[in-house]
Amino acid sequence: MTPRHEEENPVVLLTGNTWHIVEHSRRSAAALCGQTIGERRAHARLKQVGAANMCPRCLKLFQGDERRDA
Ligand SMILES: [Zn+2]
Repeated sequence: MTPRHEEENPVVLLTGNTWHIVEHSRRSAAALCGQTIGERRAHARLKQVGAANMCPRCLKLFQGDERRDA
């Protein structure tokens, strides 16, 4: 059985003043919402940062079941 998400606590990167969800902490050039990750000020995990501090678009895309292939 394959879990729907690899994990429920994805890597998040701080770019500008917003935390965005990425699929791969190092390799992703853009967040789920399409925001380019230009600077990596910090990285953490979603549950450390808290959903309230996340980019709402990333959060919505992550929580939505539909996987969108770029
Ligand atoms: Zn985002």
